[in-house]
Amino acid sequence: MSDSNDKILEIRDLDITFKTTAGPVHAIRGINVDLKRGETVAIVGESGSGKSVTMRAAMGILAKNAVVNRGSIIFRYHHQDGSEAEVDILSKDKKWIRSHINGKRMAMVFQDPMTSLDPTMQIGRQIMEDMIWHYKTPKEEARKRAIELLTEVGIEEPEKRMKEYPHQLSGGMRQRVVIAIALACNPDLLICDEPTTALDVTIQAKIIELIRRIQKERGISVIYITHDLGVVAKVADYVNVMYAGRIVEKGTINEIYYDPRHPYTWGLLSAMPDLDTNDERLYTIPGSPPNLLHEKAGDAFAPRNKFALEIDDKADPPMFQISTTHFAATWLLDPRAPKVEMPAELRAKILRMKHEAGLDDTPAPEERATGIATDADVREEGSAAGAVTAADGKASGNTSGEVSEGVKADSAAETKAADSAKSGEGGSADTGNSGAAGAAENEEGESHA
Ligand code: ADP
Ligand code: MG
Repeated sequence: MSDSNDKILEIRDLDITFKTTAGPVHAIRGINVDLKRGETVAIVGESGSGKSVTMRAAMGILAKNAVVNRGSIIFRYHHQDGSEAEVDILSKDKKWIRSHINGKRMAMVFQDPMTSLDPTMQIGRQIMEDMIWHYKTPKEEARKRAIELLTEVGIEEPEKRMKEYPHQLSGGMRQRVVIAIALACNPDLLICDEPTTALDVTIQAKIIELIRRIQKERGISVIYITHDLGVVAKVADYVNVMYAGRIVEKGTINEIYYDPRHPYTWGLLSAMPDLDTNDERLYTIPGSPPNLLHEKAGDAFAPRNKFALEIDDKADPPMFQISTTHFAATWLLDPRAPKVEMPAELRAKILRMKHEAGLDDTPAPEERATGIATDADVREEGSAAGAVTAADGKASGNTSGEVSEGVKADSAAETKAADSAKSGEGGSADTGNSGAAGAAENEEGESHA
């Protein structure tokens, strides 16, 4: 198997506009996302950054007013007999995707379980439905599988639950049922779009644990979408930070948490609740995301970025490479940019996080104090440094060189990155033995919402 076939999903240069009465909304602006077999990749960003649209494109369920300007979405999956297949989702029509991919090889768990469940149908039938539709599984066998799936997702008395309706279950239990439905056809890829956002915190944690356990036991690949960077550490191997339809930083979970390079990621991390401080004032990133109806030149984050350089208003930064797995699109990484450090408060917070995670690398007290340039300093240094500023939108030869290099390195390097787990084949529901785990974590004893 070649390196590139370790990738179950490869989104390349995806660019999407929505037609609206107010004009075109440029929602996705040339993004690349990679997912290896057996890995979990998170997409993180504020509301409106384009996370759901990206995944709807991957599932072939874009809204009617969407126009795909360019790009490809390569999905590599398995047929029931174990043979491999590869498809560019964007080249297929909705009907083909519905009968070959959706709910079968790729399954999705949405934020609100009630939108995925049919309120008029018993739980059991809803789990059996896709098995019968996609695989013509005999009814008795589908029933047996449905009971196993309910057990796997930690639902007690599964036989009794089979006959219940969604409104008879709590929110957490409903989301477990949605996950059981998603797993029914043994998919290669599970896409979770803010699956815990509607749930309260303790149940959130249980559902996240469940998704993680299922991913490990079955060896399937997971894309986990969330606006909450705090959730990501618990689920993901690799993180894509999204802003205004672009991926602005990507890296392993440790790179994003402990060595963030993009000022937007700094903001997200600073905004993350920190259990260690009693500080009630939670940081919020100033300003709001741009209106995608009115695209401006340069870096879309610049107006909210107190570290912005002059060039940020003129040219979009390329992806700069930090390690074989770590990339960020900010002019601050241009060799000609003034040296700007993350805010001292965030640095201190990261040291605390590393300490909690047992990843201390002898934090010298001085290190905490390493100064951060003020706004004025940055702006000034920016112009003084000249080079970056002088690139002046037209990007000097040098800059464009870096642009293409960066992009090339991007895919090549990531191919080599951390080895992926074995193919998703292994774990059928039968190995997924959940009795114990299920019972142990069944927090939602009460079945009524
Ligand atoms: P999120 O990151 O919160 O999931 P979305 O992917 O849902 O964000 O949306 C990204 C952007 O695309 C938003 O500005 C949203 O308003 C816009 N958008 C999504 N769907 C449509 C649509 N059908 N028509 C017009 N604009 C849309
Ligand atoms: Mg969304």
